[in-house]
Amino acid sequence: MTQALSFVHPTPDSPWGTYLMQVDRVVPYLGHLARWVETLKHPKRMLIVDVPIEMDDGRIAHFEGFRVQHNLSRGPGKGGVRFHPDVTLEEVMALAAWMSVKNAAVNLPFGGAKGGIRCDPKLLSNKELERMTRRYTSEIGIIIGPQRDIPAPDVNTNPQIMAWMMDTYSMNTGSTATGVVTGKPVDLGGSLGRVKATGRGVFVTGREGARRINLDLNGARVAVQGFGNVGSAAAELFNQAGGKIVAAQDHTGSIFNDHGFDMADLIAHVKSTGGVGGFKGGEFMNAEEFWDVDCDILIPAALEGQITAERARRVKARMVLEGANGPTVPSADDILAERGVLVVPDVICNAGGVTVSYFEWVQDFSSFFWTEDEINVRLDKIMIGALKRIWDTADRHKITLRTATFAVACERILTARSERGLYP
Ligand code: NAD
Repeated sequence: MTQALSFVHPTPDSPWGTYLMQVDRVVPYLGHLARWVETLKHPKRMLIVDVPIEMDDGRIAHFEGFRVQHNLSRGPGKGGVRFHPDVTLEEVMALAAWMSVKNAAVNLPFGGAKGGIRCDPKLLSNKELERMTRRYTSEIGIIIGPQRDIPAPDVNTNPQIMAWMMDTYSMNTGSTATGVVTGKPVDLGGSLGRVKATGRGVFVTGREGARRINLDLNGARVAVQGFGNVGSAAAELFNQAGGKIVAAQDHTGSIFNDHGFDMADLIAHVKSTGGVGGFKGGEFMNAEEFWDVDCDILIPAALEGQITAERARRVKARMVLEGANGPTVPSADDILAERGVLVVPDVICNAGGVTVSYFEWVQDFSSFFWTEDEINVRLDKIMIGALKRIWDTADRHKITLRTATFAVACERILTARSERGLYP
């Protein structure tokens, strides 16, 4: 009786198509909860908003904004906000759905949500960016809130943008609501450790993966796609553990150094120029060569759909750590599995960010703030515990870590759904 959604046209490799395939693969492991599985294919609520702003030169510009609440069975919505020219409703739907799975995989009391604005923030002045952020926040203000849906940073958004969102929501509601967003500056109720938390989670799950495949991190060769918040923090931690970062790629170029980059120099270069392109401590290579690099660990930490079937056949790494959301299309996932490459999937690998976002939200409510050590110890404990449970599930059913993560998470989501029952 259930109809497919009329307004999206997913393909096997598109974000929503990828997500639907991942859900189909978990059905055999859901037992009696399988009768609820369509819930996962039908986002609860989707808001498309017009975001008009006055540009610095007096013109009026309109941007398309989205907020999707995929599933709220386990708690308020939680998920980032992305500013990027390629943002579409379909992409935000998939990102929101992956948030539902991720939050349940690490057992946070949240549902899944995501937002975005279709824009190129690099073409906006700081004042234009602020006006766009504030208008967007005001427009989605009818569905967000500390107990309803709590945005956070994602691609091209950062603590300053979270501060504007928090201020706008607070102005509109008449009281300071620090808990409406996470990833805020520490001065405004942000949490210590949040900025590097996603990269840290990638490292913690990668360390565990390496242990299981007998890969020594000391001397391991690492290639990182995307050198932003997630990729750079993960690369730094692997480097500190003795790994060599031999390749990096971002929107400004691709670079290689067989002996490993000097990380302090590379990070300083990215900070001052905005990307890895032009870094003197490495050789330039063309974008496609990045996928052929001889490495032990590959960290896609940029955008979706980067590891295609064709690239999956060329990947040299023994382990792929999905810092990005949805970087591997299903056909590529199968090829990597056949080739014996361990994939630690996004829905657990990059869950460190939302875990510390949860800590931030709790700290804001209690107005009692933890030390960075306390945060990192708790983060590691949650990530390692969640990964162990996922790995046990994978071993029991002889399935990939991705399907195992979906099995653990979807069981939690659908248990909540069935216990709550359908209204009315
Ligand atoms: P960011 O904006 O800090 O960095 C994005 C990086 O991707 C930049 O280095 C950019 O140059 C690069 N990039 C963009 N387009 C590219 C292209 N076509 N080819 C190669 N590189 C490209 O974003 P971020 O917060 O680091 O997010 C990266 C990924 O991690 C996204 O998939 C995001 O959803 C995911 N993620 C982020 C968080 C978080 O806490 N920020 C948490 C979980 C998952």
